[in-house]
Amino acid sequence: MAKTSPSPKPAAAKQVDVLKLAAEIIECLKYRVGKEPSVATRHDWLTASIKVVRDRVIDRWIDSTRRAYDQNGKRVYYLSMEFLIGRLMRDAFSNLGLMDSMREALAIHDVDIDIIAALEPDAALGNGGLGRLAACFMESMASVDIPAHGYGIRYVHGLFRQEIHDGWQVELPETWLEHGNPWEFERREGAYEVGFGGKVASITSKDGRLERHVWKPNERFLAVAFDTPVVGWRGKRVNTLRLWSAMPVDPILLDAFNAGDHIGALRESNKAEALTRVLYPADSHQAGQELRLRQEYFFSAASIQDIVRRHLSQNESLSSLPEKAAIHLNDTHPAIAVAELMRLLMDVHGHDFDEAWHITRHTFAYTNHTLLPEALESWPVPLFERLLPRHMQIIYAINAEILLKARSSDDFTEDQVRSISLIHEDGERRVRMGNLAFVGAFSVNGVSALHTDLMKETVFADLHKLYPNRINNKTNGITPRRWLLQCNPGLVGLLRETIGDRFMDDIDALRDLDAYADDTAFQERFAAVKRANKEQLVGLVADRMGIRLDPSALFDVQIKRIHEYKRQLLNIIETVALYDQIRSRPEKDWLPRVKFFAGKAAPSYHNAKLIIKLANDVARVINSDPSVRGLLKVVFLPNYNVSMAEVIIPAADLSEQISTAGLEASGTGNMKFALNGALTIGTLDGANVEIRECVGDENIVIFGLKADEVAARRAEGHNPRAVIEASQELRQALEAISSGVFSPDQPDLYKDLIGGLYEHDWFMVAVDFDSYADAQRRVDGIWRESPRWYGMTIRNTARVGWFSSDRTIRQYANEIWKVPA
Ligand SMILES: *Cc1c(COP(=O)(O)O)cnc(C)c1O
Repeated sequence: MAKTSPSPKPAAAKQVDVLKLAAEIIECLKYRVGKEPSVATRHDWLTASIKVVRDRVIDRWIDSTRRAYDQNGKRVYYLSMEFLIGRLMRDAFSNLGLMDSMREALAIHDVDIDIIAALEPDAALGNGGLGRLAACFMESMASVDIPAHGYGIRYVHGLFRQEIHDGWQVELPETWLEHGNPWEFERREGAYEVGFGGKVASITSKDGRLERHVWKPNERFLAVAFDTPVVGWRGKRVNTLRLWSAMPVDPILLDAFNAGDHIGALRESNKAEALTRVLYPADSHQAGQELRLRQEYFFSAASIQDIVRRHLSQNESLSSLPEKAAIHLNDTHPAIAVAELMRLLMDVHGHDFDEAWHITRHTFAYTNHTLLPEALESWPVPLFERLLPRHMQIIYAINAEILLKARSSDDFTEDQVRSISLIHEDGERRVRMGNLAFVGAFSVNGVSALHTDLMKETVFADLHKLYPNRINNKTNGITPRRWLLQCNPGLVGLLRETIGDRFMDDIDALRDLDAYADDTAFQERFAAVKRANKEQLVGLVADRMGIRLDPSALFDVQIKRIHEYKRQLLNIIETVALYDQIRSRPEKDWLPRVKFFAGKAAPSYHNAKLIIKLANDVARVINSDPSVRGLLKVVFLPNYNVSMAEVIIPAADLSEQISTAGLEASGTGNMKFALNGALTIGTLDGANVEIRECVGDENIVIFGLKADEVAARRAEGHNPRAVIEASQELRQALEAISSGVFSPDQPDLYKDLIGGLYEHDWFMVAVDFDSYADAQRRVDGIWRESPRWYGMTIRNTARVGWFSSDRTIRQYANEIWKVPA
């Protein structure tokens, strides 16, 4: 992962003194790490380097915080259960313009910055796209100068580490805090109590009127803040990411300890630690366990208390909260914050229900991330009532309002009223978190144009009817600092020479590249950059997996969470079909191709894990078959994470974005690839639709059913068996897989997986196969015409600046939060 990053011109045009930095690093090693250079380990050098730069961040951080305080303007609070951060060193160094100086300063001590950079743990406090979006947003909010705080959970174990044993995914605990975390500041003084369970007492006045409710929890924990500075581009602003860790209120129950029950005395401590110990590893799937609801409430309650405290330190009452705070809910995981704010307003700060509801509804905004029914959060009423009895009452009270509003309008049928209820009533009664977030927010946004339209027509159709102005779209984005400037220094160097430096501050300036798309000399240089990036990836694959790859082959890449709707299976089946063809027609002029896969499956997701096994089995057979003559290789890279994405994406020729239309809310991987000059093969799903609009239909390869066609087929009950019978290529590939060609020791291993395609084919794998295979042959044709290929891929880089998360964040700021940006 050795890369040099470009650095912005040093602020105030003064070259940072390399010798001074070099001396500071030694100081820091000695007095803060406690080591002489001669005995310092690489980790010590890493810690010292980070702390030296961190010190420079602190002044700006304090300055940003003070400015926000003095202005007492509106602040943004971004609540997210996940932040998929990755490494921070390159981000901070590069955003502060210190990358080159630090490289030189370390070189004076004979330390290679790339080697120590690779030791920084990859902070994986998230599963995939949703968590990565939160991380990109934090960086963009600092870069466009919005006073913002991120709130989340400081998991001791982030997303599991994946190993592949005999083709199967094996999950190992992730230990990102093993060597300490030099970025974070523990704030013992910033601790709040969070309760669970217990009872609700009513306090009545002398004349017998109910005055207020008081929740008396029977379990209490402390939420302790750990702050990480988030440095914006060119160090303009430094915001705070505040992650909560659970601790016992009484570290040791002294009574029990004195009575000799040492183990019992530690029980509270163990219980607290369990609360924030581990990230739930299910992506786009609701994890129904009690601990998950506890985590959601724990971090929401701590964050709301923190926001209320900050507000009251500068303002007289909470009535002005909507003018001073926009609290954003990243998906429904923090939706309980709506009820928590209501509780504080009514039970602690003495507002009546109507006032409290007014304040709440004008403070929260909510982003929906998925329409998959299995991902929509709901909790059994008995569990909710036991854990959060007061919140349950408040939710009933809110529900009464909503139902009344709907019933008082003539055009709501009883079915529609039932669908907007916060409580699901058929069978087991459950609290619907999506509906709670919807009614508690003044804005509900989707994450791509298509997704937002579908939201209005499906999950939230009836709520949309009741609140027709609430749903809006904010198409996702990615930060161009991490996903271009840092990860692709070769391309950045070429861009700076060709179109100047303006794009580094104004990503729309990438458009200037359009003029060079058909310039032969430029195409050659663009191709040379891609080639160098591919050689780096070839090196990584050789080191980690012992597989030799040809960098002149087409690098065809599908890296993302493994999920049936993302259709890695479609790609694998097409790979098998291609393998069949290469063997049956060896005389044909086949194009060398490498198929890359990477991604994790939720540990409880049987089919996803089987798909990983299949990819590995297919890889083993194809890679060792001499009759393929190296024309096709398949690689499954273990332990996909942000750092790995930063190496693979700049090396990709072809980006696979092939989800069943209507099921991928947006995707952000698609944007990263296009920005780095890969061609997309994809369905008209999520943000692919808008990528096509930006790059032009002639610069993207689209195939497959459209969202409305998928919905129609699902509704009418289609006949996938007939589809399979009609396609010889597909039938042969499926027969090979299900008969055990790739799993000779367990011939039946894939019978059910493939059988599902014949029976229901819920994700339209069989239905879209011919169209996909066809599209792949179109890709072959383009690859053969090199000038055409590079013309297309250069236009991709030139035209996707719109997918910068700075653009997304400015839209949130202007249209939702109403803060200047
Ligand atoms: C961008 C990113 C994702 C999201 O990828 P999609 O293709 O949009 O699903 C997931 N994981 C990591 C590590 C990423 O960087």
